[in-house]
Amino acid sequence: MSGTLAPVLGEATVQELRDALRGELLLPGDEGYEEAKGLWNGAHDDVEPAMIARCTGAADVIAALGFARAHDLTVAVRGGGHSIAGLSTVDGGMVIDLGPMRNVRVDPAARIAYVGPGAVWGDVDHEAQQFGLATTGGLVSTTGVAGFTLGGGIGWLMRQYGLAADNLVGADVVTADGRLAHASKTENPELFWGLRGGGGNFGIVTSFELALHPVGPTVYAGPLFLPGDSAGDLLRFFRDWAPNQPDAITAAISLATAPPLPVIPEEWHGKKVAIVIAVTAGPVEDGEALVRELRGVAEPVADLIGPMPYTFIQSLLDPLWPKGINAYFKGTHLAGLSDETIDSFVELHQNAPGPQCEIHVHQMGGAVGRVGADETAYPERSMPYVINVVTGTADPAELDANREWARAVVASAQADETGRRYVNFLSEPADAEDAYGEATYRRLVALKDEYDPTNVFRLNQNIKPSA
Ligand SMILES: Cc1cc2nc3c(=O)[nH]c(=O)nc-3n(C[C@H](O)[C@H](O)[C@H](O)COP(=O)(O)OP(=O)(O)OC[C@H]3O[C@@H](n4cnc5c(N)ncnc54)[C@H](O)[C@@H]3O)c2cc1C
Repeated sequence: MSGTLAPVLGEATVQELRDALRGELLLPGDEGYEEAKGLWNGAHDDVEPAMIARCTGAADVIAALGFARAHDLTVAVRGGGHSIAGLSTVDGGMVIDLGPMRNVRVDPAARIAYVGPGAVWGDVDHEAQQFGLATTGGLVSTTGVAGFTLGGGIGWLMRQYGLAADNLVGADVVTADGRLAHASKTENPELFWGLRGGGGNFGIVTSFELALHPVGPTVYAGPLFLPGDSAGDLLRFFRDWAPNQPDAITAAISLATAPPLPVIPEEWHGKKVAIVIAVTAGPVEDGEALVRELRGVAEPVADLIGPMPYTFIQSLLDPLWPKGINAYFKGTHLAGLSDETIDSFVELHQNAPGPQCEIHVHQMGGAVGRVGADETAYPERSMPYVINVVTGTADPAELDANREWARAVVASAQADETGRRYVNFLSEPADAEDAYGEATYRRLVALKDEYDPTNVFRLNQNIKPSA
């Protein structure tokens, strides 16, 4: 046996855990360790966990957690591994890797998906679309259901059907003391409240129950590419258009650089573009009317909006954001889009340090805004826009410049910020009190005191227990 932990813990001790698990236990030097340790964000490739427990079920999770606590190992919980901040890995500690628990079972009559905590959105869409069903998932199909849903979950169906967290109807949770609890509206309701927006602070979710809705299989959707110099006009149009739309459409703007794709005219490759991506959730024949006004802003570089499989729009961006890219994201909630903010976005778009430095402006409202402020732990509901500044590069040497740029974009919108933030769009551990706001944060702390008073689950956007 190899591994740096063996001399500290003793081979027999490590063997005890191996014997207790159905899944693999990987230590540095073990075959498969290098592949298993990597997160989606390559910026965290230098992190070396002491052990990775590849769990196959709740029993493995309970065994691994008990072992980590008995031997004082810091625990990192991993679902899909898309944490941009690198919170699902840990130097010298234990990764409880739920990756093998990827099963999705759909009950089409009840319109519920039972989803393993290692599943990614592509897994859910694949199973649910078989029955013409879907729920709000991510813009990239390789993102994990677990962290995404626990943090909130912004996606193309949200204005019709709410955030991913709003569609969580039940969950199995392994608590810090190794119990298995079920949370729903009627069982452990306060825990259920906290799981919908409060992140992985209260336990390890081993099964998600998600409400499904009729969607597709064909939807009217896609991106519309406009010249970069129409970015200001597009943002000004979007500011007035977005808050007045029916729930059936969810759109976002991306100020980006045109990728070298055959669907975009070659002379535009590598040039600045202002993209609007729109997805309509209802009947395909209603789609054209819903996007018509978007088409009038400027002469398009490429208009790719039309009928397409729902699974296609759900994976459209996947090739641009592969595993291993060095990423930095930063987001915030906006109460409005002032002329000053728009002007600074336009300028920073033109001065972006790399081709994968993008400013995303999400249209919120609709079903997201109708959920009561105290119904879930998601920080707020009234903001009309959420921005996410996303950067990626193959060259780690470019990370610093990208980081500075992303911070500058968010800082330039400060006058329009609501003060709250979406924890899943932050690349560094945040001030959670600030992100959630005082009232929600206080309630989250009380829940943390009850379920995790010693902060076993601290590798997340952390709610600190009061003791
Ligand atoms: C390419 C890309 C695209 C994205 N697109 C979107 C988007 O469209 N909309 C959006 O809202 N967000 C998006 N995000 C952000 C995404 O929501 C977060 O990164 C989310 O945390 C990913 O979940 P995961 O399970 O893959 O992450 P992980 O890295 O596995 O975990 C993230 C956090 O959740 C905790 N956690 C994971 N599983 C569990 C569990 N079972 N129980 C308890 N805690 C757990 C971890 O400990 C960690 O703190 C995107 C991220 C990336 C990298």
